[in-house]
Amino acid sequence: MFDILRKSLAAGIVTEAGPTATPGLARCVGRGRPEIDFANWKDARPAVAACPTGALACVDRGGIRTVRLDLGKCTFCGLCAEADASVRMTHACELTAMRREDLKVTAKYELGPDGTHRKLLAPPRSTLDSQVSSLDALGTKLKERLDKVLGRSLHIREVDAGSCNGCEVEIVGLNSPVYDIERFGIHFVASPRHADMLLVTGPVSRNMELALRKTYDATPAPRLVVAVGACGCSGGIFGANYASLGGVDKVIPVDVYIPGCPPNPHALLHGILTAIGRLPGKA
Ligand code: SF4
Repeated sequence: MFDILRKSLAAGIVTEAGPTATPGLARCVGRGRPEIDFANWKDARPAVAACPTGALACVDRGGIRTVRLDLGKCTFCGLCAEADASVRMTHACELTAMRREDLKVTAKYELGPDGTHRKLLAPPRSTLDSQVSSLDALGTKLKERLDKVLGRSLHIREVDAGSCNGCEVEIVGLNSPVYDIERFGIHFVASPRHADMLLVTGPVSRNMELALRKTYDATPAPRLVVAVGACGCSGGIFGANYASLGGVDKVIPVDVYIPGCPPNPHALLHGILTAIGRLPGKA
């Protein structure tokens, strides 16, 4: 034992000193929502045909075309942007909405004889915030709101209701040394009885319906429910079918929707911040 001690003292400190301050995280650099130049859009059909999820869709009736972009279904794949120069992919990922309807953007066009757009009749309106703030700014805001609303930390129970685990990879990322969500007072817990918030992923497979209902019932009020990812928001590419119910709000009430496939940790943090603002009579 004395030999080991002697060796250790002789070797001294061999590790490097850790950083004295938390490194600032870069702004969101992952792929975000598609942005359409609605005013100059000549023809929606190529982009609609390229969209594999039905997030971008159009209906022609009586010489009028209604085009709808549903961010709750969009996987941010970028195929629409490849097919049409009027669409470009952005880095905007702070897209959380409190109502499912707010994830939909609709525009109307008068059509020419060849089916191209002659005139934009109804410009799209979106209530979504397209700003991108730094993760540290988001986290500080989150901590302030937590202190004000809960007077303590926030406890989250994650529920995988049939996801592909893409969203789980990003949620685990929140706890990694890079994002270190615990420094903002947010902890993941094993039991819904200890949770303030349910973070639910997946299109809700029929096998998970009962488990999700029971988990919701076991979470003490006032509980928050966050639907995560395109699947959680709308059923995603699975939709509603023999095996899946088509989104979290088909089973339990949802407070906020975080689109993306999967939403990155930055988007998740923004969604959690938005959800806390929904607690009654506070914030
Ligand atoms: S990014 Fe992909 S899923 Fe989203 S609208 Fe474009 S083609 Fe559809």
